Amino acid sequence: MKVLVINAGSSSLKYQLIDMQTEKVVAKGGCERIGIPGSVLKAKGNGNEKTYEKDMPNHKVAIELVLHALKDDGIGVIKSMDEIGAVGHRIVASGEYFKKTTLVTPDVLKTLEEKTFELAPLHNPAAATGLRACIEVMPKTPMALVFDTSFHATMPEKAYLYGIAYEDYKEYGVRRYGAHGTSHKFVSAEAAKYLGKKPEQLKIVTCHLGNGSSISAVDGGKCVDTSMGFTPLAGVMMGTRSGDIDASAVEFLARKKGLSHSEAVTYLNKKCGVAGISGVSSDFRDLDDGAKQGNARCALALDMFNYQTKKFVGAYAAAMGGLACIVFTAGIGENSPNVREGVVEGLEFLGVTLEKNENAKRVDGIHEISTKDSKVKVLVIPTNEELVIARETAALL
Ligand code: ADP
Repeated sequence: MKVLVINAGSSSLKYQLIDMQTEKVVAKGGCERIGIPGSVLKAKGNGNEKTYEKDMPNHKVAIELVLHALKDDGIGVIKSMDEIGAVGHRIVASGEYFKKTTLVTPDVLKTLEEKTFELAPLHNPAAATGLRACIEVMPKTPMALVFDTSFHATMPEKAYLYGIAYEDYKEYGVRRYGAHGTSHKFVSAEAAKYLGKKPEQLKIVTCHLGNGSSISAVDGGKCVDTSMGFTPLAGVMMGTRSGDIDASAVEFLARKKGLSHSEAVTYLNKKCGVAGISGVSSDFRDLDDGAKQGNARCALALDMFNYQTKKFVGAYAAAMGGLACIVFTAGIGENSPNVREGVVEGLEFLGVTLEKNENAKRVDGIHEISTKDSKVKVLVIPTNEELVIARETAALL
């Protein structure tokens, strides 16, 4: 069976078609500028690439074009739509309404639209638009919702509750939900496989460090804590997001800068993080370059990021009462030896020793960067969120 994985944003739609027998990507691509003049689909398949410059006023037209590309001359990989057994849709936030991957029914669609939009106002409405378009174009194909939050559903109450009135948690669902769950799930399972152990035997800290960053404590294969919170603003500072901050400081800043509540939250999401500290960029490559050229604020931004990430690793080792493995993944985790070294530096007392030469190397696939005698293994594992979405979708059917 082939599963189509869809990740729809407000003006974009990324897809991969995955053959579940081989778990290989047979076609992939993305539409950009949906609803904006100059929309384009860049599609790959059969070892070829094709660009479609076509007006895409909405997601329905975009999906129709993607399905056309999947069959088109040169890059086509299927003969008929019947070859697509199911579609898996990436959904950022589930609230407490969905704990696991869910087959789409009219009731499910209703709950998604009526209950979860306010939890992820940028992401969920866009994903639902993509989903509705897909249902219209492929009415007979089963669809699944795969949530970024599902892997974190196993967190105990003590980890997901905030210290607010319990009634308010119950009434409004304000609690830690986490994010990047499919990535944390994938890399923690890959780590267990690589180490030749059952997930139940391992205490792992997974560091998904990218534009958005989150750290999770995975004990016995289950997530027991994670750094992102009610929204992806929490935890370590990120490209442009502040990470954790005292709520009183937010109110103070808003008053001083003349911002409304929601403007203050936008400020914390878009103008802060390493971009705000460095005044240079949200991209860690630029920060590395800046620091090398003697820019003290670039160096400070990197230092703060590493320090905050390290504190989560230590906290989660304490929370789990042990640590067998640290995993680095996503754009920064997979590509920045400096960040990896900065994060684990000083954790020797926990039994972590980095093999610096190995850490500096670029390796395809899973890469062990701790010394042979390091008690705690340190691994770099390329994440694959689409494969998790495809697997979950196939498993549901
Ligand atoms: P997203 O959260 O958007 O999926 P990614 O996981 O793709 O983000 O991570 C993107 C980030 O990865 C970039 O902003 C950049 O800071 C970082 N990155 C990519 N390559 C490198 C590199 N070679 N060195 C340091 N950072 C890198």
